[in-house]
Amino acid sequence: MNIQSELLTSLKAEVRIIQIISYETLRIQAELIHAVEELEYELLIWDRVEGIRRWDGENRCFGEPDGHENPADILNYFIEECSDKTLLLLQDFYPDFTEDKPKIIRTLRNIALNMNGQKTLVLSQPHHQLPKELEKEVQVIELPYPSFADIKAIYSAVCENYHIAEIEPHDELIEAAMGLTTMEAERAFAKAYMQDKELTTAQIPAIIKEKENIIKKSGFLEYYHPAETLADIGGLERLKDWLKKRERGFDKYAKEFGLDTPKGILLLGIPGTGKSLTAKAIGSEWQFPLLRLDMGKIFGGIVGESEQNIRAALGIAEAIAPSILWIDEIEKGMSGISSSGNTDGGTTARVLGTFLTWMQEKTKPVFVVATANNISQLPPELLRKGRVDEIFFVDLPTAKERETIISIHLKRKNRNPQEFDLKALSKMSKGFSGAELEEAIKEALFQAYDTGEELATEHIKDAITKTFPLAKTMQEVIENMRNWAKARAVMASADTPEQLETNGQEKIPKLKQEQYNNPFI
Ligand code: ATP
Repeated sequence: MNIQSELLTSLKAEVRIIQIISYETLRIQAELIHAVEELEYELLIWDRVEGIRRWDGENRCFGEPDGHENPADILNYFIEECSDKTLLLLQDFYPDFTEDKPKIIRTLRNIALNMNGQKTLVLSQPHHQLPKELEKEVQVIELPYPSFADIKAIYSAVCENYHIAEIEPHDELIEAAMGLTTMEAERAFAKAYMQDKELTTAQIPAIIKEKENIIKKSGFLEYYHPAETLADIGGLERLKDWLKKRERGFDKYAKEFGLDTPKGILLLGIPGTGKSLTAKAIGSEWQFPLLRLDMGKIFGGIVGESEQNIRAALGIAEAIAPSILWIDEIEKGMSGISSSGNTDGGTTARVLGTFLTWMQEKTKPVFVVATANNISQLPPELLRKGRVDEIFFVDLPTAKERETIISIHLKRKNRNPQEFDLKALSKMSKGFSGAELEEAIKEALFQAYDTGEELATEHIKDAITKTFPLAKTMQEVIENMRNWAKARAVMASADTPEQLETNGQEKIPKLKQEQYNNPFI
């Protein structure tokens, strides 16, 4: 439901108090003006500096202030003096929601529960904040990010402000600013104009740069420009095949043909096996903007902040859709899910709930790539069928895949793989992850450079011998993951993984603190 129909429905249903969360005062006012004109309501607007002003539909502006700057006064005025079919917008009223203002909270509660007549209060504010007493009585609406038409209107306003001869803007110029609030878009357009004295497609890179900086400031989202492609991934053929087929699911004929827009995948598995690499490769192959979401940073200290952060992240991904939302290590911050009610007042559970509901209901083409190393910390709700299109298990590379990975990384270092004994290197690196193979090559390069020699198979062999792959220290964990994955996930690789050595002969070095079972040492 869009915001306009949600507002109309709420007004018709005589919802007494609505809270709209957004920084965008002008867009909120515009939505309310449309609603009151449709339902023939009167619109009043209040803030603590100006007091009350009345919407003058004929002159398309708000009239002169009419006193009532005091928050307590305004509620009494609303109850006693406003006639039926009135909508009163209170802008930034939330500082009066504090515990030392019990009378105001009670008055609001009375309005929500007992007031007669067709009158509605709308509270607009930039962030979610509502006293507990009102949580059940107030309908909360979050203003979505500006649409294409909204951004286009901002573009026109900027042209007018700076006396730029307005030309019909290229769609791409408007799209470049999508994912920003109206204020941010206005600033981005204005800055780009100030820099180059024109506002055309030539300013798209400057606007995108500005958008990236703004998105980065959120702390939990980051824009990526990956150079990696699917060809940079060694092995994982089944996963790559699946992705190649899904890419076409976004073209304009796919829907007509009966295809569902791909929702996303969950990549589970062993660290360093190419999960993040796959997310980056999808971004560059599909040519969609790639946003990386750090789940750990979603969780904020203030009540309601974490839920608002996740909604903001999902909102931005939708605003720039078609896009890819890469959720790296989704298990981070989710570990306390089962005890969330007792330990964090249910925040973790609510964040996950918001995310899962969005996954289920999203209509915008945002493809989610969630990665996780620690399966045991994943909430079971996330693994349920239908949440994502597919769950892939990314195992350690097989012998053949190791050959490909070594050859990819040699090529990256401008070496000809045919000059190396790939078979021998693959054979002796059993249990190595892609990341460990890459590291071995980097280490070998250092060795060769140090001795003034050209890189040769022997240098890499040497580096492999000196490496203790994670598989050796995590043997049991990996076996457990494999057994778990057999029944619940699709193997990303088309080949069967090798069994890990279980002879126990090899001595695994341990840190001093690992040798004693005493937590205080
Ligand atoms: P983690 O969660 O620990 O980051 P991951 O599975 O996401 O693990 P990546 O970050 O994708 O691992 O891998 C690290 C690096 O190792 C990659 O950037 C890439 O250079 C190399 N690598 C890993 N797997 C492969 C592979 N299958 N083919 C080519 N390179 C690989």
